[in-house]
Formats: sequence, C-alpha cells, structure tokens
Amino acid sequence: MSIEEAVTPERDGERLTAERAYELYWADLLGRDARFACVGTGCHAPLICACLDKPEQNLRIRPYFRSYRLEDHAPTCEVVHARGEKATQKQADVFEAERPPGHFRHREPASTTSPANVAARRPASASPSAPRPRASHYYRLSSLVQKFLEHRRDKDLAEATVEIGGETTTYEALFRNVYRQKVADLLGTRAVWWGTANLRATKDGGYYLRFSRPFRHGDAELRPTITLAAKDIEAYPVRKLLRARLDKLIAETDGYCVAFVWAKPWMPKDAENPFVRFYVNNLDHIDLRGPEILEELKNTSRVSA
Ligand SMILES: [Zn+2]
Repeated sequence: MSIEEAVTPERDGERLTAERAYELYWADLLGRDARFACVGTGCHAPLICACLDKPEQNLRIRPYFRSYRLEDHAPTCEVVHARGEKATQKQADVFEAERPPGHFRHREPASTTSPANVAARRPASASPSAPRPRASHYYRLSSLVQKFLEHRRDKDLAEATVEIGGETTTYEALFRNVYRQKVADLLGTRAVWWGTANLRATKDGGYYLRFSRPFRHGDAELRPTITLAAKDIEAYPVRKLLRARLDKLIAETDGYCVAFVWAKPWMPKDAENPFVRFYVNNLDHIDLRGPEILEELKNTSRVSA
C-alpha cells in the first residue's frame, strides 16, 4: 500500500510527500538512509521511501512511502484505517509556477535521532485539526507528468482536474501533443506541450533538445527546440536529478526521449525562416522521460481496448 506523507528526524517539523522527499534527496538535503515515520494519529510506524535514488520515473518506478508491516500502524492511525472517509479524492491537484522562497533551505535535524523518537518529534502541525499541506501540491512538472501518466492509464484524464495559475483545468486539456498542431494559432497558449524528442549534451555543459514530432505551419513542419544553458542548470536546486536523468537518456537511448514542457511556443516575428522554440526559464517546468512510457501507455490502452 502506498502512503502519501511522512515525517523524518532529518527535517524536523516538516510533513513530506514522497515527491518532496525525492526532491530533497536529489538536492542533497536528505540522506539515502533517512528514516521516515507515519503521520497518523498516535502512529509511530516506520516507513521507507521507495525509489528515492532512482533518477528515472515511469508508471512502475516512482517515489512512494510504504510501511514494512501493516501491524506497525497504531489502531488510531487514520492513514491506513478508515480510508473510505477520504473526501480529498475529487480535489484538484495544484501546480505552482514558482516555489516559495527557502523551499530548499537546510533544516536542522531533530536533536534526538533514535527511531522511536521520529514520531515523538512530530510537529504540532501534524495534529489532525491543524491545516494540512496538500499532498497533491506540486512544483516540479515531473510530478504532474507522473499524475498525467497515471490518469491516462486509468482513463480519467477528462475528469481529473488540476489548478494552475489560479485556473482549474483538466489533465486532458492541459497536456497537448505538439504533433501536427497549427503553431501560428497557438503562440499564446501556455500548456504542457509534449512529444518525442532527441536530446544531446552541448560542449559547454548544457543540453539541446529537438522534438522529433513537428508542429504544422502552412505547408511546413516545424520541430520545436529547447536549450538548457549550463548556468541555469548550475543554479537549479534539483540539478543533480536533472543531470542524472538526462545523462541516463543519452547513455541508454542515445537521447531519444519523450519531452514535456510547460511553456508557450515561440516564433520569430520575421517569418522568412520560421522556427519554433520553447523557452524554459524555470527548470522545474521541463521533464524528460524514457521512450518506455510510450510503450507503457500503448500497453495500458490495449488492456481495455
Ligand atoms: Zn500509521
């Protein structure tokens, strides 16, 4: 069973989603051997965070918390008991375009670190009456892509909603394949544009990406490009994960990948030699996945076809 939230003595006072733990691990703010505990009422169940150190993500590989044994949870633990009462299922996910300041600040670990104290050191905010951080509050596009893949598998893209820039939309409307869409009509459309692409490392330590599926522009086909500058990567708190993921794609598939970017397509005003670019100012807004996700999606479609 997968559990959404946990506390850890390494981040005293913070309730973590598995995605957040994953980001902190890749930002060198959480150790590989970090211990986690259940946030349920009166519950001290130790949890582990699966896939914490895996750079790649797909439908089978994703970070999540789980307990060793169900019996570890207290009888009062609402996390594993009384799950039927969950009213949060229909709530929209939230994607924040910017992280709050200090999101990757180092936090003092709890002074006592014996496993029994993990739960004892829980913050006051972990009490059930306190306002809770939303488990489905995302900053990295990759988290949203993960949900998109899961909803696509579950065939509820049209019903699953996400709040982005204060507006609520569906996953189906938000994610748009670039393939053969008329780009001139879409220059003002900020969406999660996606498609197959080829990635390569540049000499200066950055990356260059070119979609292999094109937009349509008159009779021409325009393959959008993205440049990730080395200096932007160096300034990005989760750069280790970004580089590990990108380098793995280059090593394993020669850079063939599926690219997702939250942006507007951009074209030069002088249309003599038209081309399309996506500008990524915030590296949280791009996600690249291995081509196996195409295969997974095909397979999952076939199941109920
Ligand atoms: Zn529990």
